[in-house]
Amino acid sequence: MDERKYWNPILETLPLEKMQKLQLMKFKKIFEFAYENSPFYKRLYKDAGIEVGDIKTFEDIRKIPKVEKGMLREVQQREPFPYGDMLAVPIEEVSTFRQTSGTTGTPVYQAETWQDWECYTECWSYILYSQGYRNTDRVFIPFGYNIFIAFWGGHYAAEKIGCEVVPGGVLDTAARVLKMQELRCNAFMATPTYVLGMAETARTKLGIDVAKELQIEKITVAGEPGGNIPTTKRRMEEAWGAKVYDHIGATEWGAWSFECIEQPGGLHIIEPFYLIELEDTETGEPITEPGKEGKMIITALEQQAKPCIRFDSKDIVRWADYQCDCGRTFRIIDGGVIGRADDITKVKGVLLAPTAIEDVVRSIPDLGNEYEVVVSKRGDLDDILLKVEMLEGKESAEDAVLARLKDQLRLKTNLGYRIEIHPYSSLPRYDVKAKRFKDLRKKGK
Ligand SMILES: [Zn+2]
Repeated sequence: MDERKYWNPILETLPLEKMQKLQLMKFKKIFEFAYENSPFYKRLYKDAGIEVGDIKTFEDIRKIPKVEKGMLREVQQREPFPYGDMLAVPIEEVSTFRQTSGTTGTPVYQAETWQDWECYTECWSYILYSQGYRNTDRVFIPFGYNIFIAFWGGHYAAEKIGCEVVPGGVLDTAARVLKMQELRCNAFMATPTYVLGMAETARTKLGIDVAKELQIEKITVAGEPGGNIPTTKRRMEEAWGAKVYDHIGATEWGAWSFECIEQPGGLHIIEPFYLIELEDTETGEPITEPGKEGKMIITALEQQAKPCIRFDSKDIVRWADYQCDCGRTFRIIDGGVIGRADDITKVKGVLLAPTAIEDVVRSIPDLGNEYEVVVSKRGDLDDILLKVEMLEGKESAEDAVLARLKDQLRLKTNLGYRIEIHPYSSLPRYDVKAKRFKDLRKKGK
């Protein structure tokens, strides 16, 4: 068994000052590479009056124009097909196509060179290694291997670390549970929705309590916020009798963050590969102090095919004011991604983050995992309808649950709700990413 604590002991314990020197050096390199090789970036920078040698200090980085998702969609409408003129390498060097899921609009096409993919896998190796994955593990990967990036990186990194990987591609949920049981797998990776869904399928269709009858010790989740919502995390850990670790990544820039085995309450940033800047959403001023929320601007420091330089992620994050007991110097964003600048909507004049509702619903033991939130207009007023499910056999506790829900929701979100209690198993189930928040006010506007 591999007993080393870190995947890369030098980089993972580098003091911040040295890390920032490394980041500045890498930033200059990727900026110049994009300037010279990507017509899209050349146009963007020339229009802004920026020259190749303009980046000398860390502060200079803020002069570089940001990139937004809409620009990526626009550029891929242009020739040459299919990536437009954003590519910074000849098309012959592109080794993989992927695309975003399109949850916020037209999917964005993503190109990778083999070297990009090696970086992607290396980042995932930091993630899994920090979560205790070693060469003695047998890891099940229950996802549909397809055009979405999802857990492809996790698969390759688990192999790179030396784990034994079981690809659970086209099997259905019950077959996946049975295969994990048969092979005594001790780890797997999935979205939080699917982690809970698999446990439910095992119980209702197979009569299996996965916490007792399977040998899962650790689960890596990604793709949804649940890994950093305390009550959702607790439900997943209890359902499987395993530790759950969070990871957030993105198709456009890769696997940039992880929760380590210490579960510090936030995510480490893989700083040798990613430069994160925080910016005040209203003034655009940089935020360096802990505790203050801002928008995350991200640069993938080694991504070559489609460089990602100062991308406005719209993710809302804040720096942590604590260090992690694991000893890594990679900085932490507290509580993971708190929300998206797009998603945090105003309801009745109050900012509402859907993750806060999830945290309340899943803190009440008599309620099932599923819920649905529908925001609409009733006359001139905003209306929030929350649908929840009572667990079987708990129906007599309805009144008490209703009162507790109302209290907790008002306390945590400062808003009042209409609440509907539905029978167990009647709300929609999702296999991968759930769509539990619906804002009907946006339609037709
Ligand atoms: Zn840590």
